[in-house]
Amino acid sequence: MSTVNIPELFGSLVFDDRVMKERLSEDIYASLKKTIDENVRLDEAVADAVAEEMKNWALENGATHFTHWFQPLTGVTAEKHDSFITPSSDGGVIMEFSGKELIKGEPDASSFPSGGLRATFEARGYTAWDPTSYAFIKDHTLCIPTAFCSFSGEALDKKTPLLRSMQAINRQAMRILKIFGTDAKYVKTSVGAEQEYFLIDQELWKQRPDLKYTGRTLFGAMPPKGQEMDDHYFGVIKPRVSEFMEDLNIELWKLGILAKTEHNEVAPAQHELAPIYATTNIATDGNQLTMEIMKKVANRHGLVCLLHEKPFAGVNGSGKHNNWSIATDTGVNLLSPGKTPYENAQFLLFLAAVIQAVDDYQDLLRLSVATAGNDHRLGANEAPPAIISVFLGEELTAIIDAIKEDKPYQGTEEVKMKLGVHSLPRFSRDTTDRNRTSPFAFTGNKFEFRSLGSSNSIACCNIMLNTAVAESLRQYADELEKSTDFENDLHELIKRVFKEHERILFDGNGYGEEWVKEATEVRGLSNLITTADAMPKLLDKKNMDMLQSHKVFTEAEIHSRCEIMLENYVKTVNIEGLTMVDMVRKNYLPAIERYLYRLSQTTVLMRQVSENVKCKYEVSTMERLSELTDYIMDAVIELEDALAEFKTIGDVFKSSEFVRDTMLPRMDKLRKFVDEAEMLTSQRDWPFPSYGQLLFSVN
Ligand code: ADP
Ligand code: MG
Repeated sequence: MSTVNIPELFGSLVFDDRVMKERLSEDIYASLKKTIDENVRLDEAVADAVAEEMKNWALENGATHFTHWFQPLTGVTAEKHDSFITPSSDGGVIMEFSGKELIKGEPDASSFPSGGLRATFEARGYTAWDPTSYAFIKDHTLCIPTAFCSFSGEALDKKTPLLRSMQAINRQAMRILKIFGTDAKYVKTSVGAEQEYFLIDQELWKQRPDLKYTGRTLFGAMPPKGQEMDDHYFGVIKPRVSEFMEDLNIELWKLGILAKTEHNEVAPAQHELAPIYATTNIATDGNQLTMEIMKKVANRHGLVCLLHEKPFAGVNGSGKHNNWSIATDTGVNLLSPGKTPYENAQFLLFLAAVIQAVDDYQDLLRLSVATAGNDHRLGANEAPPAIISVFLGEELTAIIDAIKEDKPYQGTEEVKMKLGVHSLPRFSRDTTDRNRTSPFAFTGNKFEFRSLGSSNSIACCNIMLNTAVAESLRQYADELEKSTDFENDLHELIKRVFKEHERILFDGNGYGEEWVKEATEVRGLSNLITTADAMPKLLDKKNMDMLQSHKVFTEAEIHSRCEIMLENYVKTVNIEGLTMVDMVRKNYLPAIERYLYRLSQTTVLMRQVSENVKCKYEVSTMERLSELTDYIMDAVIELEDALAEFKTIGDVFKSSEFVRDTMLPRMDKLRKFVDEAEMLTSQRDWPFPSYGQLLFSVN
């Protein structure tokens, strides 16, 4: 480590602003910059010049190929490599890369999920360069971040709607800022995504088909020690893990990813990495890359990085925290209370917009993080509940109460709180960040959405968040643009919004049973427990209308997404069910039988030696294990029946309900019996590494 020059290393594989400034002519650089910052269309001559320099830079840095790098709806990234070679007239090759190749690609897209989109349009898709996210080199390949669309322009990826949502919030926020008399040209949202993961030994991983096929353990009895001692969280990082982290940081830094903080998490073998925040689409690309590089670097160290939300039952699962804020190009964070009353009023209006957005579109936020994997976490007393609510902290709550009730606020003089007159205190992180059970918490100058699963793309929730906030802002702009008494109308509007949406504000314990009751029965908040419950809400008229009105999705795109996400859910669980049956029939039952054979043989032999032996251990173990094998057999047949029936259901909505109501409960039942058998069977006969081995293997 000591020999690494980090500033020199940082971004060394990225065609970033430094490289562009150095290598492009002044004119070309200026027009590219305009495209990046202000979304101005790029002309072809500029693209050619950029492509040429990009290629030269890539060749100098060891690249041989280029690829359009995109984020299809599978949730992972995709790439198809082309080399730079072009035949020359003398039989050799030259290295070429044109502006056209930079701007547009035509991958054979038929194998990517499209949820019926392409059937109605064209069979092919194309990728389009996103100049706002820098190109980079990975595995000797120049990767060009792109959006992935059908020929008729329907988005087949996660980046396109994300960029559209950033435009939507920019449009509406600028309307508001103009009323306040801004000198800003645009606003952008920023995100810092904290990423949790598990590291386990690769040799042990290889022996677990469930981890290989599904990313999580489908069986496994709890070891004597779990996370109850709280001795792992922020604990000393073990040497092998620390070597992995050092290596990971270097790889990420080379790619210009601002990896900053690393520590052990709550569960044994669990860790976290947090980058410094960046513009949302760049943070999204960065997080996708981070997940990919984590897995790759882990392999180099004989480890496997598990990004599944719940790799092990009984200990915490892994999530991701989406720290979100919105700022102007002039450097004003709109979620930071300012120094003057005027700035404060602006802050409170943006705060109101977020609160209203979360209340009005709870279901969209919830479904944006819904996957089969994350369903195991949300509401499982370790992660925020499936109920979405907002935590503001004492100070801010007191201010809002004062505004709502037209009362004095103790932080100001003893007069009625009036916007445009009073200064607000600055919120220190300490007073705002105490509640870890809230799904959506204000943390001083940003909001932290904590419901994401560790493998989720952060694109999904940011699309919903940006657009929902854009919708609140649109309503306010419509109202305030017409106002003739701005200060008074603004005050009344903020007061009204806080009053109308107070039900979404909750500072208590989000893990408690009482909260579920209060939230659903008293406050009428939605509690969408599974993906099967949440995803269909995407098609609710209010959600479809809103997303379309901001031009973030077309109607067809919304339908396709709903279908793909549900398909993903049912396919995931189906593979898990099949894997369970396979493991039970081929490994667990034969293993228990082997052990039973030894026990019964031993009992017979011992009794031959003496009639007085009781064989207590042998006989009682045999009796219970033999009972359990009967239960296991019944449960496996029930699961097989469910898997067979599942195949006959054509409709994806019905399939998802079947998965929720029949498959998952049957899988749970089967697991319970097998896990009990594990506790009774000799380790020598047990066919797979135990939880104890998996969780405590890395040192
Ligand atoms: P935690 O206590 O949750 O670990 P940190 O201070 O480490 O909080 O920050 C978590 C993440 O929030 C980091 O990725 C950080 O860069 C990001 N962050 C900080 N300020 C902002 C902001 N204004 N907008 C978006 N993200 C931010
Ligand atoms: Mg956090």
